[in-house]
Amino acid sequence: MTDALYDLTGKRVYVAGHRGMVGSAIVRRLQREGCEILTADRAVDLREQAPVRDWFAANRPDAVFLAAARVGGIDANDRYPAQFLYDNLMIEANVIDAAAQFGTSRLLFLGSSCIYPRMAPQPIVEDALLTGPLEPTNEWYAIAKIAGIKLCQAYRREYDCDFISAMPTNLYGPGDNFDLATSHVMPALIRKAHEAKLAGDAALPVWGSGKPLREFLHVDDMADACVFLMRHYSGESHVNVGYGEDISIADLARTVAKAVGFAGDIAFDATKPDGTPRKLMDSSLLRGMGWRPSVDLETGIAGAYAHFLEGGARTVSLSQ
Ligand code: GDP
Repeated sequence: MTDALYDLTGKRVYVAGHRGMVGSAIVRRLQREGCEILTADRAVDLREQAPVRDWFAANRPDAVFLAAARVGGIDANDRYPAQFLYDNLMIEANVIDAAAQFGTSRLLFLGSSCIYPRMAPQPIVEDALLTGPLEPTNEWYAIAKIAGIKLCQAYRREYDCDFISAMPTNLYGPGDNFDLATSHVMPALIRKAHEAKLAGDAALPVWGSGKPLREFLHVDDMADACVFLMRHYSGESHVNVGYGEDISIADLARTVAKAVGFAGDIAFDATKPDGTPRKLMDSSLLRGMGWRPSVDLETGIAGAYAHFLEGGARTVSLSQ
């Protein structure tokens, strides 16, 4: 696709959440677009309305990528429900409203595949939203992300704002959080396999039964999809951004162990939750627009492990 609906060249583009895995990938990707990239420093707490409004009044971005969020894996979601619900609701409401008030013409909100009902038919189409009960281990985060989609739709209807939403599947890559208490499965397995290899352990500990299926997309592909949607898509429906295939957690553990060079067994820890059994997304809406991922799982895992070894790992702790 060549004709862009929205040309980013020369635009003032704000990336909210530029220190996170997704935001930093979007910043890297935008460097090829000829736009002016804006970021806010830590003093601008996105959970607070006044500093967000002041920042927008002073900087007036033309376009916004809303990648700022309180995020975490299955354990953190369950342990810190207030932070996952409150922080995300406030960030979304403040940034979306300020964008509308201060003349931002395009905004892309990032959600998550956990917005869908636990038992949604697979692969999950966009229309499955709000058709059934959520997965309890991440419903706090999911409710906040559903509110973000609805804010974009409501501002589109009431104020004619061209705000859109993208729903990524499970993401991984450079800039991931490797704190075992708060991370998602991919960085956790990379770190645990590496440490098991160094310690000469007999087995790699893996939470749950190993049976759940998850779909993984490299964050550089996600950033590319975000820029693609910003340039080419306008519409009320959120858009799924997936890889197109899923893998069991047991097979993922084996793939990571191979990439890291850990030759021992895998030990499943049944005291930890499995979460939703499967959440493969149907990404045909996005594929139909002409976008495809380019990083396969083995290449992506090798790169993520190399980044971990280079000391690029972040750790994000949550306090009670
Ligand atoms: P989810 O996709 O929202 O469930 O989030 P996660 O990425 O945290 O977990 C995905 C699946 O991987 C779940 O079934 C977890 O139980 C499983 N898993 C296995 N080992 C780990 C681990 O060390 N950390 C995390 N976060 N999940 C793990």
